[in-house]
Amino acid sequence: MSVSEFKEEVLHWAKKVGVSPKEIHVRKMSRKWASCSSKGRLTFSYDLLSQPKDFRTYVIVHELLHLRYPNHGKIFRSLLKLYTGLTFKVMEGQWEGKVQR
Ligand SMILES: [Zn+2]
Repeated sequence: MSVSEFKEEVLHWAKKVGVSPKEIHVRKMSRKWASCSSKGRLTFSYDLLSQPKDFRTYVIVHELLHLRYPNHGKIFRSLLKLYTGLTFKVMEGQWEGKVQR
């Protein structure tokens, strides 16, 4: 998928989650899938564009939720599950697993 398609996807989820990221960036990141600044700037790894949809969705929603919840607490985890249907524990395992490149 292209960068602009990916950004569309992020905006689509931002609406659902009810947050508005100030900036969305896609760039090469060697060690992370994504990051989120306290000022509302989201950066995603370019490699995410070629990942399976489930994983992509998970990373997107995970970062969007951080705009509202800075930690991985109970509310954060249950909202992630609610929006994505994916379990924090399982997906976080994938996250960590794939991040080792
Ligand atoms: Zn996180």
